Formats: sequence, structure tokens, C-alpha cells
Amino acid sequence: TCPSPSGIPGVQERTLVAVKPDGVQRRLVGDVIKRFERRGFKLVGMKLLQANEGILAEHYHELRRKPFYPALIHYMTSGPVVAMVWEGYNVVRTSRAMVGDTDSAEAKPGTIRGDFSIHVSRTLHASDSVETAQREISLWFHSSELVDWACCDYSNTYQL
Ligand code: UDP
Repeated sequence: TCPSPSGIPGVQERTLVAVKPDGVQRRLVGDVIKRFERRGFKLVGMKLLQANEGILAEHYHELRRKPFYPALIHYMTSGPVVAMVWEGYNVVRTSRAMVGDTDSAEAKPGTIRGDFSIHVSRTLHASDSVETAQREISLWFHSSELVDWACCDYSNTYQL
């Protein structure tokens, strides 16, 4: 059996990442997955779905009074999204850094937004705090859809 990293604080942190309709249309799902895999994070949940207004209203609750909110909901229901749960050390903060600035026009090259997006309205999602991540994961996934599995190469990712 392989040594487990469970003694390392924060190693079971999880975040929600979602490739939005433009990313699915543009066949960018694989590129996004690849970046998280290569960084060393572990995929514990993933699905393609057509999001309905109910889930989006909850997901974007804090933005409901923003002027761009109706356009955001319209766009998010325009085609399927791919929702994923990634797990690993500091995954919330690290994935926000990997995704880059909210405004794609400001996002640095090398970040996902900085490499694949030029406008704030066409980007991917990554949870912005551990608390938000927990709320978003339970909104998008049933617990039975999340898989607890052991990597066979944890020693390549962590000091065990
Ligand atoms: N958004 C938009 N227009 C704006 C600002 C935001 O369409 O002027 C959308 C965009 O898709 C963004 C989402 O609203 O990803 C959520 O915005 P938030 O401020 O929470 O940024 P994020 O956490 O995605 O970086």
C-alpha cells in the first residue's frame, strides 16, 4: 500500500472548477483538466451538464444585483458546462492563481484566463475561498458523485 498524505494539513482541501459554455464549445475542457493534473491536484468529481436557472441563481447569488447578472445567467444557460472538483494542498488559492485575474484582459499570460480568454464575460470558474468552495461543491454535486481515491504516487506530490 502507498503512504497517504493525510497527515499534511490542508491536503484534503477541495475546490469547484467549472468550464463555462464557451470553453466547452471551444474544446478547451482537456486543456483545463491538463493544467490541474499536471500541477499535482487530484480529480475527485466531474460532470457535463446543462445548468438550469435554479442552480445558477444560487451559485451567483452574490452577483444578483450586478448589471451584468442577466447576461451572465443567459450565457451560462446557453450550453453545457463541465463542473469539476479538484483536491489537494492549498487548492483554492493555487487554482485562483492558475486561473488568473477575474478580468481576462488583466490576466497574466500563463494563467488559464491569460492564455484562453480576452473578456471578463467569457471565462472559467474557480471557487474564491474554502467556505465558498464547500458551498459550491454541495450545490453542484451530490456527495455520492465525489470519489475518494488514493493516488499511487503521493510521494511525487508531497513530502510524506
Ligand atoms: N462577470 C461578467 N462581467 C463582469 C464581471 C463578472 O460577466 O463585469 C462574470 C464572469 O463570468 C465571472 C463571474 O461573473 O467569472 C463571477 O464574477 P466574480 O467577480 O465572482 O469573479 P471570479 O470569482 O469568477 O473571478
